[in-house]
Amino acid sequence: MMDPQAPEFIEKAEQFFCRSCDFFMGVAKTHQLPDTRLPEVVFAGRSNVGKSSLINALVNRKNLARTSKTPGRTQEINFFNLGNSLHIVDLPGYGYAQVSKSKTSNWNDTILVYLKGRPQLKRVFLLIDSRHGIMGNDEKIMTLLDTAAVSYQIVLTKIDKLKKSEQDAVVHQTQHYLSKHPAAHPCVLPTSAEKKSGLSLLRGEIFSFVA
Ligand code: GDP
Repeated sequence: MMDPQAPEFIEKAEQFFCRSCDFFMGVAKTHQLPDTRLPEVVFAGRSNVGKSSLINALVNRKNLARTSKTPGRTQEINFFNLGNSLHIVDLPGYGYAQVSKSKTSNWNDTILVYLKGRPQLKRVFLLIDSRHGIMGNDEKIMTLLDTAAVSYQIVLTKIDKLKKSEQDAVVHQTQHYLSKHPAAHPCVLPTSAEKKSGLSLLRGEIFSFVA
């Protein structure tokens, strides 16, 4: 197994992400889930965490993940095809406030069925706003993923909003917190879609599922 963070590997990942990325489909009901063998990586996070901005920055497209914000698609699971080799899957942002015991608002049964029964799903990237850290409903999602044994990794967004010393602190705090979560990848990735930082390492992680 290659090291997804080795420079030669990152270089290949960068080339891979130059391929075209297009909207494939939006799914509202379980039976619509596409029957494909392509590996999938999933992006999840609270509304406004910076998910669309990060997906757009990753694939070098300005408006791709806007699809997920068009009326009628906000509650859908949106699939994007990258170079006919990978699906990037954008889950609806979950809410700020209302969280029920077993579900988080905006997260419906279709999403739970998808997450629990998808062999080609390689990893969920759980986006956390650097300024806020892991909050109550993020914690619920993490527990849900632990229970379903779905591998996930924390990506900190909007890291540019913090000073350098604060950046290191939030990475360490978040990393420390993960020891309680068996399905969490131990490495936390700080990113900024605005400053385009941290993208190469994230691309490397994603490319490892294709290479
Ligand atoms: P989504 O609802 O999770 O898809 O979030 P958006 O991508 O729409 O971003 C929400 C807000 O955060 C917007 O005002 C973005 O301009 C802002 N934002 C997103 N990413 C960054 C970032 O890396 N740095 C900064 N400073 N702002 C960001």
